[in-house]
Amino acid sequence: MARIGILTCSNATQDLGCSSSSCLADLRKRKGAFSKYPQDESLDLIGIISCPGCPTLTGPDKLLQRIRGLTEFRVDAVHFTYCIKALCPFRKMYEKALKEAYPDIAIVIGTHQERITEQKYRERIKKLFSSKKKTMVDLILNKE
Ligand code: SF4
Repeated sequence: MARIGILTCSNATQDLGCSSSSCLADLRKRKGAFSKYPQDESLDLIGIISCPGCPTLTGPDKLLQRIRGLTEFRVDAVHFTYCIKALCPFRKMYEKALKEAYPDIAIVIGTHQERITEQKYRERIKKLFSSKKKTMVDLILNKE
């Protein structure tokens, strides 16, 4: 049995409303990064946690604190989600920090199957972020 934890990007979960459903579907179906586990090994999802946000001056320290939400529960592997793989400019720094801090835990890059190229994915995400949303400012200024 492989005990799996998933680290998601908080831009995707908090700002864009991703519930990790594609990652979890492919975990169940053993697609994408989950296809690499032996077929006779069961996959046990131990937890999902989002990154604490972009690191600013702290480097990986915030993430090392937060990842305890997975590492304290005997995970064998932490998967970085596809959105981290495709979008996060800090991914390599995080990967290195986690490998050093947790040499016995496999750090796996990716979760669900890649359905479009990373370039196309990035373009679509950029469009989502730059589409105009109404906010409290619009309400205050009577522009809602
Ligand atoms: S540091 Fe990376 S994973 Fe975390 S919110 Fe920023 S882009 Fe997403």
